[in-house]
Amino acid sequence: MQSLVYINGSLVEKEHAKISVFDHGLLYGDGVFEGIRCYNGNIFEANAHIKRLYNSAKAIRLQIPISEKDMLDAIRKTLDANNLTNAYIRVIVTRGAGTLGLSPTKTSDPQIIIITDEIELYPPELYEKGMEVITCSTVRNHPNAVSPRIKSLNYLNNILGKIEALDAGVPEAIMLNHQGFVAECTGDNIFIVSNNILFTPPPEAGILEGITRNIVIAIAKENNITVREENLTRYSLYVADECFLTGTAAEIIPVTKIDGRTIGNGSVGSITKMLIAEFHKRISA
Ligand code: PMP
Repeated sequence: MQSLVYINGSLVEKEHAKISVFDHGLLYGDGVFEGIRCYNGNIFEANAHIKRLYNSAKAIRLQIPISEKDMLDAIRKTLDANNLTNAYIRVIVTRGAGTLGLSPTKTSDPQIIIITDEIELYPPELYEKGMEVITCSTVRNHPNAVSPRIKSLNYLNNILGKIEALDAGVPEAIMLNHQGFVAECTGDNIFIVSNNILFTPPPEAGILEGITRNIVIAIAKENNITVREENLTRYSLYVADECFLTGTAAEIIPVTKIDGRTIGNGSVGSITKMLIAEFHKRISA
C-alpha cells in the first residue's frame, strides 16, 4: 500500500522519507512530538494536541516554523493523501540538522514530519478482562530536569520503564516520581476508583497531562462522579476498587492486577465500564 509521509510541506513515499543524520532530533532527542487519532474523518481533540505540541516546543525553545492552523491543514492533507479516515497520526518537530555539538544555534531549520498509520491497539481481550501491570524501579523524570509535561523526542526514561514491564511479562509499567508518589505509566496516564471517587495524579506529580486523561475527567464530572487530582501511593493502587489507564493509542484500558495484587474483585469495574462506553460515544460523535 502506498504510504506518504509529510516532510516540510512535501508528501514523499515512506521509503524516501528521510532526514539528516546530523539532525539533533536523532543526535540528542532534541525535538517534540504528538500522537493523535482520527476517528471517522474527525481529528480527535485536534486543538488540544496542537496546543500541547506548540507548548512542548516553547518549553524547549524550539520555534515551529509554521502556524498552528497550517500544522492542522498539513495533518489533514497527509490523511487525505493516504486515504485514511481512521488513523494514528504522529507529528514530529526536530531541532534540525546541525554540528555534532549540543548547541541548537548551529542547527538548520526544524524538520516537520507527519506520519499517518493504522492504529495498533492492545489485544481486544485485555479491554474485556483487564490488564496486569507492575510498578517499576525506574523513577519518572524529575519535573525540574526535563519536565514530563514536555512531549519530547527523548523517551528513554519511559523506555527503561517499558523494558522492566516486558521483563516482568506485562505490557505496561507504572512509574513513581522522585518523591515516591505515583506518576503515570510509560505511555499512558493512570486512574483509580476508591469508594466511587475517581483519583488521578495531578500534573505537578510530574506527568504528561494526557488529553485522554482530561476527556475522562470531563466525562466523569458530567456523570456526577467526584474527581480528585491527588498524589497516590503504591498502597492506594493496591487497595483501589478499580484501576484503568488512558492514552491516545490505548484509549481507556482496565487494569485488574498490579504487582501481583488483584484490584477490586479482579474484573473490570462498573465506573470503568461506564467511562469506556461514554468515551466511545465521544469518539464516534
Ligand atoms: N503519558 C505519557 C508518558 C505518554 O506518552 C502518553 C501518550 N501520549 C500519555 C501519558 C497519554 O497522553 P494522551 O492521552 O494525550 O495520549
